[in-house]
Amino acid sequence: MDCLFCKIVAGDIPAKVLYEDDQVMAFHDIAPQAPVHFLVIPKKHIATLHDLSEADDKQLAGHILFTAQRLAQEQGCEEGFRVAMNCNALGGQTVYHIHMHVLGKRQMTWPPG
Ligand code: 5GP
Ligand code: ZN
Repeated sequence: MDCLFCKIVAGDIPAKVLYEDDQVMAFHDIAPQAPVHFLVIPKKHIATLHDLSEADDKQLAGHILFTAQRLAQEQGCEEGFRVAMNCNALGGQTVYHIHMHVLGKRQMTWPPG
């Protein structure tokens, strides 16, 4: 297995885990870009957003989003926060296992760089 986030799911690489269940895992980003910065990932390997299947993964996609919402609230981001998913190199993706970034507790700007 050659995927960094699959190794985190398997417990082979440590992470500061915020939440996990049978479908998803959330952990703090190793290089936080805001006072709150964590990632929500599916446990199953999906390389990019292009590979997310409307037929197979609709429930999973919703579960990722609502996990991000709940954890953002638990992390004290009631005032506001940013979610982002980067797709492929042009979208700024560096780890090819999909993940939802959740950033909070600082002022966000638009557009992102
Ligand atoms: P991307 O650029 O693909 O959207 O985001 C990948 C994110 O994964 C980056 O924010 C990066 O800091 C984070 N990251 C990379 N390697 C590790 C790691 O080993 N552990 C954790 N917790 N985060 C990582
Ligand atoms: Zn993976």
